[in-house]
Amino acid sequence: MEDQTIADTRQVSAIGQKVTIRGWIRTRRDSKGGFSFLEVNDGSCLGNLQVVADGELPNYESEIKKLTTGCSVVITGEVKESPAKGQKTEMQADSVKVIGWCDPESYPLQKKRHSFEFLREIAHLRPRSNTFGAVARVRNQICQSVHQFFQERQFFYIHTPVITASDCEGAGEMFQVTSLNLEKMLKAAPKEVDYTQDFFEREAHLTVSGQLEAETYACALSKVYTFGPTFRAENSNTSRHLAEFWMIEPEMAFYDLQDDMTLAEAFIKRIVGDCLSKCEEDMDFFGKWVDKSLLERLEKVASSDFLRLSYTDAVEILTKSKQTFEYPVDWGKDLQSEHERFLTEKEFKQPVILHDYPRTIKPFYMRLNNDDRTVAAMDVLVPGVGEIIGGSQREERYEILEERMKAQDLDLEEYWWYLDLRRFGSVPHAGFGLGLERMVQFVTGMENIRDVIPFPRTPGSAEF
Ligand code: ATP
Ligand code: MN
Repeated sequence: MEDQTIADTRQVSAIGQKVTIRGWIRTRRDSKGGFSFLEVNDGSCLGNLQVVADGELPNYESEIKKLTTGCSVVITGEVKESPAKGQKTEMQADSVKVIGWCDPESYPLQKKRHSFEFLREIAHLRPRSNTFGAVARVRNQICQSVHQFFQERQFFYIHTPVITASDCEGAGEMFQVTSLNLEKMLKAAPKEVDYTQDFFEREAHLTVSGQLEAETYACALSKVYTFGPTFRAENSNTSRHLAEFWMIEPEMAFYDLQDDMTLAEAFIKRIVGDCLSKCEEDMDFFGKWVDKSLLERLEKVASSDFLRLSYTDAVEILTKSKQTFEYPVDWGKDLQSEHERFLTEKEFKQPVILHDYPRTIKPFYMRLNNDDRTVAAMDVLVPGVGEIIGGSQREERYEILEERMKAQDLDLEEYWWYLDLRRFGSVPHAGFGLGLERMVQFVTGMENIRDVIPFPRTPGSAEF
């Protein structure tokens, strides 16, 4: 099979070539002159290839004139310069072979625009729509940029486990993994679960973050990153939370919080810049149909410095502002998404990196600052999304880490290996986590996180 995509045949350089394309019919339009226009798409790009099918073709009446949206076809013909606007090329068909028919009565995707809510119910067919095809291609570009960014900087890609016995966030928002027969256990007398009888002979969960394990590799290979599925059983039905999402987590030995912030900023700029330059057609589509201010906002993000602001200063700005918030702002309380979005969207209108949060609202592994009240944490906030990255410098001092773990009621024995890193050649180190789906939202302007992952998992929903 020759490897010609519709993206290839839409280029001027394809003019004059005889090619075979394979794809799905978007529309058919019959001309009075006794021929038809077929718009064919194979997902290789947003645009369709316009195919002119002549009435002389042997299956013109019997098949071609019966083609409807969704039918799959293989077409051979010559690529020509197109007289029509908005496309450089078109194809004159020599043969049109129908591979799969698609009943227009029952096919749920029609030519008209469908709501995102409706398309979510047909997640198996929505990649055939313009929007979801574009999201999939941009998501792919982001993943490629992630790897290129780190590989160019001599980071090593490592794989941290999906099943884990340690709870990184200590928040208890974890899915349990068990091979115990729950139904059988329920029928027996209710008693305490004996996890020594379970598969791992202990309680196990799906990971909420690969950070702790990534730290062990950073303390050996210096610069590493993980990129994999992450699970959180948080019952928050928002447009920014999924129960299963993909997270990118770099971890760097000998980095402090400033280095961490600098890397995070360069990372976001690289991804945005790549999407703008390499996914032009899809990005123009998002700018036209999804969010009119998108491209201007992204250009600005790619070219200007992010603002750095301490949590303490942010609290002061928020308390002095005239904006009314649902939740009160108070030093020592976690900022709500309404506060974060006010800062990045209204007050500064640009990405903001907040840093040095109160120790009481952050996990044990974040490095204690000299003031004894704050830790070396940072969150990157961007317009349209809010928090996109969370990171910190890690506590590398054994005694202080131990003290903080005790204060948070953690079982030190379970973290023996994590503590060992601080006993044997401990080094300052830092890292952060970027939620891939939040990045896709940011780049595409898509409002709901359920629409930037192929098959979203949210409370009460795991269809497909
Ligand atoms: P939030 O406050 O928005 O719930 P978080 O502080 O719990 O996020 P972190 O633990 O710092 O998030 O995780 C790092 C990054 O992972 C976040 O900045 C975000 O981009 C992403 N992320 C976290 N939770 C989710 C989720 N449930 N769905 C999608 N992405 C998430
Ligand atoms: Mn966070």
